[in-house]
Amino acid sequence: MNMRVLITGGAGFIGSHLCERFLAEGHTVLCLDNFLTGSDANIAHLKGQPRFQLILHNIAQPLEVGGSLAYVLHFASPASPVDYLKFPIQTLKVGSLGTLNALGIAKAKRAKFLLASTSEVYGDPQVHPQPESYWGHVNPVGPRGVYDEAKRFAEALTMAYHREHGLDTRIARIFNTYGPRMRLNDGRAVPTFIAQALRGEPLTVFGDGRQTRSFCYIDDLVEGLRRVMDAAVHEPINVGNPDERSILEIAQQVLASCNGTQSRVEFRPLPEDDPKQRRPDISKITRLTGWQPRVSLDEGLPATVAWFREHWN
Ligand code: UDP
Repeated sequence: MNMRVLITGGAGFIGSHLCERFLAEGHTVLCLDNFLTGSDANIAHLKGQPRFQLILHNIAQPLEVGGSLAYVLHFASPASPVDYLKFPIQTLKVGSLGTLNALGIAKAKRAKFLLASTSEVYGDPQVHPQPESYWGHVNPVGPRGVYDEAKRFAEALTMAYHREHGLDTRIARIFNTYGPRMRLNDGRAVPTFIAQALRGEPLTVFGDGRQTRSFCYIDDLVEGLRRVMDAAVHEPINVGNPDERSILEIAQQVLASCNGTQSRVEFRPLPEDDPKQRRPDISKITRLTGWQPRVSLDEGLPATVAWFREHWN
């Protein structure tokens, strides 16, 4: 069955991969973005397709969409620490007003709704790995609070629309993800290290590099999100790869994936409120949908480096 799908943040890193996925499934995609952190280049190859439409709009402002919609996927937001430090109020607005508007569209169209939430709702977690039942450990007034609290509010709002209006909603808590189409300068560990290695500059590891993250390749993530959409569960579901590594290990693996680089690791101060550890408990999504990540860092990092080599000018 052909669906008409609205994807906010459709020109972003994850959003653009979702646009591709729905087009490949034969659906019609309305890609909404204001290019604050997304980019035209991410969707340029889709623009000629008859089932693809770009709506240049900030979802923090109300919007009327013509025609029917089967699904609204709300992915618009600055999502890297550097971006949400640069755009703190925009981040709060898109997580609050943007989510309100996106839910309003879904309600008007009787469409299903998927919220792109985040592992940041767990803050600097005191429970490890993080199951969905953990309420988190967030500093509301720290520099990351603008993103963490906006997404926590967005989750509360999504559940309220489900409970009060019977909207058919999903909440995916997305853990660290990497792959082609990340911005080289978005400040996140993987693209930053790759850019530095390709330029022969030092890899800037913050703190002692012993803090951990668990990185999921974009193709795995998209498949996981697709399955969450088809699982009739309204409470949050973690989507991520539980392969936990220290950031120093990630830097070393990037060096190994960039043949011939002269770069070395250099240590820099740890940013405020940087979570010390992060790993998703994915037993819920696996039990509900059978999903598990397939792409290891050994495959995903070289594929990402190859993409950056080709596109970094
Ligand atoms: N990080 C780093 N060097 C960088 C960028 C990030 O050491 O140039 C560290 C950062 O301090 C954090 C981890 O890598 O501990 C992941 O950071 P990222 O910005 O990718 O995402 P986060 O998981 O913090 O949202």
